[in-house]
Amino acid sequence: MSDALPPLFFFPSLSLAEGGIVVLGEEESRHALSSRRLSEGDPIALFDGLGTIAQGQVDSVGKPRHGVKVRVISKRLHKQPSQIILASAVPKGDRMSVMLDMATQLGMTQFIPLNCERSVVKPSEKSHPRWSRICSEACKQSRRAWLPKLLDTMSPSALVDHFAGKGNVLIAHPSGIPIQEAIIEYASIARVVMIGPEGGFADDEVTTVTQQGGIAVSLGQSILRIETAAVTTLALLAG
Ligand code: SAM
Repeated sequence: MSDALPPLFFFPSLSLAEGGIVVLGEEESRHALSSRRLSEGDPIALFDGLGTIAQGQVDSVGKPRHGVKVRVISKRLHKQPSQIILASAVPKGDRMSVMLDMATQLGMTQFIPLNCERSVVKPSEKSHPRWSRICSEACKQSRRAWLPKLLDTMSPSALVDHFAGKGNVLIAHPSGIPIQEAIIEYASIARVVMIGPEGGFADDEVTTVTQQGGIAVSLGQSILRIETAAVTTLALLAG
């Protein structure tokens, strides 16, 4: 279906581009020229990650480092989607990319790395730029106008303090109630999904979260990998 649509590229300052020419950054230009093989006159779409998608036309191409020039023809501001926040322990290696990619496609609006008692992977300073690129690619794929916000690491107790309130937070834990039941009861307010590390949440983490109104939910009898649990929960919540 998306083949019929013009390819979508990231351009961060679309609000300034009214009826004029904008120049794509080097990475986006490289992608436009080498992967998408765009040339002058081709239709193209741009998004700024803040709700605006512009339709335009390639005005001129040169070397990627000089930037592909795009004539902006029209712009549309898309309304902000309902908040769906994924707070998850970070899985190892490429599985993190898979999780962020799929979660963004499913409508995740914020990602919070969880620092749990049994967490193994700690985000480094290189993590955010890499995660941001993955989310941007997933927005292009799914044509979402809003880039998810990437927040700093939090502990489960700090997170539930922040989002306190009965039913706001679902914490995935095998001893919880079936997630389908929780969704029927809390669908209108549940906005935060917590997923634990490979070793699972410690009992005191689950107790702290549930004492503050979080709902422990089970995803069935199989023990899922972190990214599978995250994607399953988001898909059910997004409905
Ligand atoms: N042995 C760990 C446990 O008992 O929690 C398994 C951890 S699992 C690999 C990683 C995380 O995915 C868990 O902390 C939980 O948040 C989520 N998860 C995986 N399978 C689940 C299930 N069937 N029900 C609820 N949560 C699940």
